[in-house]
Amino acid sequence: MSFNRRVRAAYEQIDRDSARRLAEAAITLEDQRFRGCVLVHLACLVPGSLVTVQSRLVDIGIDYPGELFWNSTEEARNGILAALGHRDLEALRVSHLLTCLAWIGDATVVDTFATWRASPPPWSAALGVPPHVYALSAGWELTPDGGRRDLCSEAAYRLDPTPSAAASPIVVAAPSTDRSPWLDRPLTILFDLPTALAPLDWLRLDTGRLVICTDDQATCFTFVHSTFDGRWANVDARPDYLGGDESWPALAQATLHLSPHSRSPLSAAWQVCEEGMSQLGGFPTWWSAAAYPTCPGCRRHMRFVGQLETSELLGEPAEGLYYAFVCADCRFAATGYQQT
Ligand SMILES: [Zn+2]
Repeated sequence: MSFNRRVRAAYEQIDRDSARRLAEAAITLEDQRFRGCVLVHLACLVPGSLVTVQSRLVDIGIDYPGELFWNSTEEARNGILAALGHRDLEALRVSHLLTCLAWIGDATVVDTFATWRASPPPWSAALGVPPHVYALSAGWELTPDGGRRDLCSEAAYRLDPTPSAAASPIVVAAPSTDRSPWLDRPLTILFDLPTALAPLDWLRLDTGRLVICTDDQATCFTFVHSTFDGRWANVDARPDYLGGDESWPALAQATLHLSPHSRSPLSAAWQVCEEGMSQLGGFPTWWSAAAYPTCPGCRRHMRFVGQLETSELLGEPAEGLYYAFVCADCRFAATGYQQT
């Protein structure tokens, strides 16, 4: 077992009371890098372990990564809102504070984002996107009427290359008999899942199976939409720069093993391990900005189904992740990709 995996396993075995004591000890550490490392592992792998320290994190200026504040207390949220009221804030600090608010995501945050959408604060001019768009970094979006719509499930299930007695085999990246109309190469069935699987419960799919196909080369450059029965949806504009690269390695079909037990939904969110990130449900790992495709039917952001590490498909060191999304109402799926 690799060192990273042993670290992950060690944190996952800590009970919540011990984890809270560890968090109390961690925030007094002078070594900022070590302190940050312990805190982010606790935040992602032992949900609820930071609840007694979150408001003090704001006081001592720790506002990164925002995952530290997932499901945080009212006190910490008010501290962050107060910090955003200070003058002469740098854009990076504003960006970090907005990401923290997004991860808190309670009714006050939702109302505040709606207020800022209608009437942008002065500091928003220095941001690349309007403040409410930061909701995406924590897996939700602000609806047109000012509500919260979740794009991720709080239950995450590991997809592991190693078989275990209780895990269900899931075939991924199988070749399709259809060809890509853009690059004239075989399409790939990224996922073919029974909709009765526990990780899909929250999506309330009634189609029996969810088959998500993609052009594994094209989706490295743009979102590729498909129908629920694994067909090219023909709704995307081909990027001008997309060429057919004969040397591009095709994804190899693999069998992964779906854990019957859910794990922390943030297990993969902040690259705490850089392996073991293939999963169904939970929050995605973003190597760059959070990027959810838009549904071609209803124009809302699509919900996250799961992600696959290329290392588990190609047998090489982790380079990137393939993501799968759906809109259950319009019966569109989509795939995307980000690289480390
Ligand atoms: Zn839709």
